[in-house]
Amino acid sequence: MLYKYFTEKLLGLQDVDIEKIEEIDNSIHINCRLKRKPHKCPCCGNLTDKIHDYREQPIKDIPAFCKHIFIHLYKRRYRCSCGKRFPENVDFLPRYHRMTNRLFLYIIDKLRNEVSFSSVAREVNLSVSSVIRVFDLVSYAPKKLPSAIS
Ligand SMILES: [Zn+2]
Repeated sequence: MLYKYFTEKLLGLQDVDIEKIEEIDNSIHINCRLKRKPHKCPCCGNLTDKIHDYREQPIKDIPAFCKHIFIHLYKRRYRCSCGKRFPENVDFLPRYHRMTNRLFLYIIDKLRNEVSFSSVAREVNLSVSSVIRVFDLVSYAPKKLPSAIS
């Protein structure tokens, strides 16, 4: 479907099947799941594409068209013949898995321009503590100051 193709392009997320897009108040909710593909079992190393179950994972993304964006990913768990169950790999999620990589980078970029934590938090619809956590992940401790500066 052409509409679907453009939505995928607009979203810029690879290998995602979009199932539903809803606009609720001031936010856009995108329901999607990744394309099914063989995954390597972390236990025995065999490939499997047998599905164990799905769990909905809400993820925040960069605001677009002055609206907050929520991705509802139906994250799949695969089951291997050895009995191991494991979640699929999601390329666009960093460590904390609650926001997209590009939202993470967007926050860092905003903070570089010396905007306050609270104004960035408001813009991206996250708590101030989440924004501070992003900041802490990329900031480095300053070198120890000499005991006498002058
Ligand atoms: Zn296995």
